[in-house]
Amino acid sequence: MNKLLDNIKISEIRTIALEMKKYEDGINFTIGEPSQDIPQDIKKYMGEVTINERICYPQTGGIPELKKAVVDFYNTRFGSEYSYDECLITVGATEGISIFTRALLDKGDEVLLPIPSYPGYYPNVILSEAKPVYVDTSKENFKLKASTLEKYITDKTKAIILTTPNNPTGQIIDKSELDGIVKLIEKYGIYVLCDEIYATIAFDKFYSMGVYKNLKDKIVVISGFSKSHSMTGYRVGYMLTSKENISNFIKLNQYTTTGVSTVSQLGAVKAIELYPERLDIIKENKEKAEYFKKGLERLGFNVINPEGAFYLFVGYSNISKKTSAEFCLDLLQKTHVGVVPGISFGVDGYFRISITTSIEKIKEALERIERYVRDINE
Ligand code: PLP
Repeated sequence: MNKLLDNIKISEIRTIALEMKKYEDGINFTIGEPSQDIPQDIKKYMGEVTINERICYPQTGGIPELKKAVVDFYNTRFGSEYSYDECLITVGATEGISIFTRALLDKGDEVLLPIPSYPGYYPNVILSEAKPVYVDTSKENFKLKASTLEKYITDKTKAIILTTPNNPTGQIIDKSELDGIVKLIEKYGIYVLCDEIYATIAFDKFYSMGVYKNLKDKIVVISGFSKSHSMTGYRVGYMLTSKENISNFIKLNQYTTTGVSTVSQLGAVKAIELYPERLDIIKENKEKAEYFKKGLERLGFNVINPEGAFYLFVGYSNISKKTSAEFCLDLLQKTHVGVVPGISFGVDGYFRISITTSIEKIKEALERIERYVRDINE
């Protein structure tokens, strides 16, 4: 086996999800799967397409209808100015991460990862023989600042990977900080991968890195349909960047996946056409997040204020001094409530809740957590 694989582990999130299966009355807040299903009419459309059409190999880099729908959507919604040939359709945002790291990184390059960081990035950095450099944002309550990033830049820094809205905190990077990050790109000539997969389900104003049109060759925006339209299993994502970058990225896409299933791509076109806005989903996610946050704060937890997505990043240092792995295992074994240790995102003393269940389940989970906290205090 390639020695690089020795440094990569299967995500702890899946390990806990497996442990959860032991408990029949378990309440699972571990997997980043939206609580709502994909709208029924999109499902129906994909079913009809499958039955009525012959599904052939997709066009390299994505079907034209989808590329067009994606750039129109992004430009209208977030103020970018991408053209049709500045878009590549990928197998989820995940393929976008892999393409970015494989295309741009050389051995020894450094990649800045502000923590907490989505666990899908660092393995890709390592597979390119590059070095992940973790940027501590805890002093600013995990709200990323350009000035903090700059402290970690060296002559080896090749790229920064950002997530906005963030997984696990749900926080959005402020416009003024994005402007500051753009200055860093210009000053140091570095690339930015901006993962905007939760943009469509931001609670309030969201700022895309796609708006800096003069820096398209340095900024790569990735997103997809997994979170916005609950199409996690259909595997449709996209990359937006300069035409020249796309002409290189497409080579990796061609020789690893040969594109996304045509049925899924057609479903994604329908998703943009019928549901460009997700206001009802945002309302539901926000209400659940606020309810859960208040309940946890009442019990003494410190919850980072989410501005989008469907996660809560919860500090428990007032309650226990255990490591996050120990804390989450103990909580799971005693209450059958499954949450993910903060260490999976590079930060101890916290856990992540993925709000994928009903308010009733949230109430029940809060009652169980309340008993757990009471037992610790006695
Ligand atoms: N990026 C972030 C920040 C995520 O949270 C996830 C999934 O949880 C992904 C990418 C993966 O997205 P996809 O299903 O489009 O591959």
